Amino acid sequence: MDLSKHAFFEGKIVPLSEAKISIATHGFLYGTAVFGGLRGYWNEEMKRLFVFRPYDHFRRLLHSAKMMAMQTDYDEESLIELTLDLLRTDNWQQDIYLRPTFYKANLGIGVKLHGLKDEFCMFVMAYEPYVKNDANAHVTVSSWRRIDDNVIPARGKVAGAYVNSALIKTDAVRAGFDEAFVLDNNGHISEGSAMNIFMVRDGTLITPPVTDNILEGITRKSVIELARDELGLEVRERSIDRTEVFIAEELFLTGTAAQITAVTKVDHRPVGAGVMGPITARLRTMYEDILRGKNKKYEHWNVAV
Ligand code: PMP
Repeated sequence: MDLSKHAFFEGKIVPLSEAKISIATHGFLYGTAVFGGLRGYWNEEMKRLFVFRPYDHFRRLLHSAKMMAMQTDYDEESLIELTLDLLRTDNWQQDIYLRPTFYKANLGIGVKLHGLKDEFCMFVMAYEPYVKNDANAHVTVSSWRRIDDNVIPARGKVAGAYVNSALIKTDAVRAGFDEAFVLDNNGHISEGSAMNIFMVRDGTLITPPVTDNILEGITRKSVIELARDELGLEVRERSIDRTEVFIAEELFLTGTAAQITAVTKVDHRPVGAGVMGPITARLRTMYEDILRGKNKKYEHWNVAV
């Protein structure tokens, strides 16, 4: 992994090698940290790096922090400012991934959330493709269940909760699949290990509601807007049954890392014709242009470094 030379740690930019926490740190011992995942896209013609929807990402991060009873003086604007400072320090001129984290920084044991010190840190890495077959993924339905809002909130990006995602992903990949859909405790498909799900049925785009134990994805929100406003599609947020994905016309996954990943097979059954569908293809092209700052109408989604 190509990591940044510098990181933001304990209030300032330092060499990455100096950004270290103790083995006695609460966030490490109990997974009491919340994180974000943003991407920056290099536009070669314009010689500029664009960060995608940082305001929305930091807003979600601050919401996750609030759920974990964290306190911070940072707001969306100050987090964007320090992101730009960090990116300029290493002068990134390629696609990148940003990982900001708030964590419980006290040393020692004691399982609780209140009365602890919260710290913020962030590092950058060069982007590496996340899903291998992003144009024709083969997905299974996981035997694991999605964490429930009354267990650990899936709408927060809580570090410890990603053990659930890791179990889902590892078993899927070891069984020969690219990804897995995971069911919530009601038996509805919630999402993938780290991406939201969309299906097309009878020409309507359908995705689970935010009350079905999903992460409220920024890519999901962007795709809903593009499908409605640019493709004139009807978009419905409703629960998805397990067998609906077998008979969907198109299926795709969305995420900052996964972008728009076409799913062409589910548990050995072809989706539609077994190749990427036209709606998925159009959304992918449009989305790619927006990310690289090539679409004027949506340039407000990007912040230039
Ligand atoms: N669900 C989960 C569990 C995730 O970790 C992610 C990645 N952040 C997503 C969905 C997609 O969200 P976004 O589009 O904001 O990256």
